Amino acid sequence: MSTVTRFAPSPTGLLHLGSAFSALLAWRRARTDGGRFLLRIEDIDASRCRPELEAAILEDLAWLGLDWDGPVRRQSDHLEEYRVVVEGLRDRGLVYPCFCTRTDIAREIAAATSAPHGPGGPLYPGTCRALSASERDARIARGDLHCLRLDAARASAAAGTYRFSDETTGEVSGDPMLAGDAVLARRDTPTSYHLAVTVDDALQGVTLVTRGVDLLPSTHLQVLLQRLLGYKTPRYAHHRLIVGPDGRRFAKRDRSSTIADLRAGGRTPAEVRAMVGF
Ligand code: GLU
Repeated sequence: MSTVTRFAPSPTGLLHLGSAFSALLAWRRARTDGGRFLLRIEDIDASRCRPELEAAILEDLAWLGLDWDGPVRRQSDHLEEYRVVVEGLRDRGLVYPCFCTRTDIAREIAAATSAPHGPGGPLYPGTCRALSASERDARIARGDLHCLRLDAARASAAAGTYRFSDETTGEVSGDPMLAGDAVLARRDTPTSYHLAVTVDDALQGVTLVTRGVDLLPSTHLQVLLQRLLGYKTPRYAHHRLIVGPDGRRFAKRDRSSTIADLRAGGRTPAEVRAMVGF
């Protein structure tokens, strides 16, 4: 089976050296294996994503010499598909509505003697998991805003133990509770990052997910979702994060590390590729 990789930027900022490195890695893997390199725009967050940034990212990728196979998949065009998947999980009792605001959650965590923690800090303490079915229905009927969360304990029981293989770390044993009761559908959109990525990687036939090591914790949850949904688990290659001369990783807010800026400053594509080792 030939390798299918993808680059999946969110158009919330310009392409910078860190994301260019990630894109080049995925692209090179596909090209050296005679496989396919896909481009996906992760724009489910309508308040932060901007079409002009999407256009700029595509332009910068092409300027760097990358080409991609098939049409670009834009997540905002597929919200209905994600909604159907989440509803399926809800029908199986694996998802519950959560009415908590950020303030409610912070208050609950502060008051708890032992709140569950994940790699990124405290996890959702599970307040709304305990609501009765009638209370949930009443609040939804009343129009209370809510997101939908995975019931991680039930999901774990349904999925069984699992592993995934990461080219950098080796075989990883899946921790279904690592992200806790993660949001699968936000208040304002019928999906979340994790759900959309899991659906798309499966639907697009991605066989090798290359992305920064900062997303390794997310993989535990995404593989759990793959198992619940009967999807195949791709291989993973979580790569190191490229850092600037100050030792800090590039961020979208650092203008000087954007491809657009380097380009405007007269750098050639070959020079910019060389800056990240290509
Ligand atoms: N859209 C994510 C980002 O820009 C990447 C997600 C992924 O590669 O799975 O950070």
